[in-house]
Amino acid sequence: MGLQDIRTRMDDAAEAAGRSPDVITLIAVSKVQPNERVEAVLQQGHRVFGENRVQEAAGKWPEFRTRYEGVALHLLGPLQSNKARQAMELFQAIHSLDRLKLARTLARLAQELGTCPELFIEVNTGEEPQKAGILPADTDDFVAECRALDLPVRGLMCIPPVEEEPSLHFALLAKMAARNGLDGLSMGMSGDFEQAIAQGATHVRVGSAIFGARDYG
Ligand SMILES: *Cc1c(COP(=O)(O)O)cnc(C)c1O
Repeated sequence: MGLQDIRTRMDDAAEAAGRSPDVITLIAVSKVQPNERVEAVLQQGHRVFGENRVQEAAGKWPEFRTRYEGVALHLLGPLQSNKARQAMELFQAIHSLDRLKLARTLARLAQELGTCPELFIEVNTGEEPQKAGILPADTDDFVAECRALDLPVRGLMCIPPVEEEPSLHFALLAKMAARNGLDGLSMGMSGDFEQAIAQGATHVRVGSAIFGARDYG
């Protein structure tokens, strides 16, 4: 495992799918990882990272950014409206746009700040009650509402149910993106990024397969 290994597997998966690896962004998910592990990946030249929490990211990335140029941060976890401003100042992309209230807040702040991160709409493809995300049946309307707010919607994002075949969820997400004219697909994690690439992923979010297991203790 490690960065190089994941890159090789991504290239192989892209080739097998007849896709160019250049259009697939690897987001190294650094949440909860010790700074030494993150620094090791920065030293290998990688610059695209994912975090789940605004607070945690704000605690570690400003310092890394003084020493490494060109870092792009992606917010993957749920975003509360009262943290939206801080998130917009810290992140280049937000993958968890999942409700109209948040869309309205982001639109207002985008006006004020004159800029907005790329946005991915999170879709609850498994229709799991405990999970965030727009239901598949509501997704087309929500995309239209976000566009009417002038938000830069880059694509759709999903986290398939753990017990189900992820490819079916990736295929569903790809279909919904296509019919809405969106080409960004944020899907695939350590255990299923190759399947996600086969279904058209443009952004894979890989944590433990790069950095090792997370220690929540
Ligand atoms: C933690 C997380 C990941 C990375 O998970 P791994 O299994 O460690 O690759 C990807 N996406 C989201 C939304 C996450 O919360």
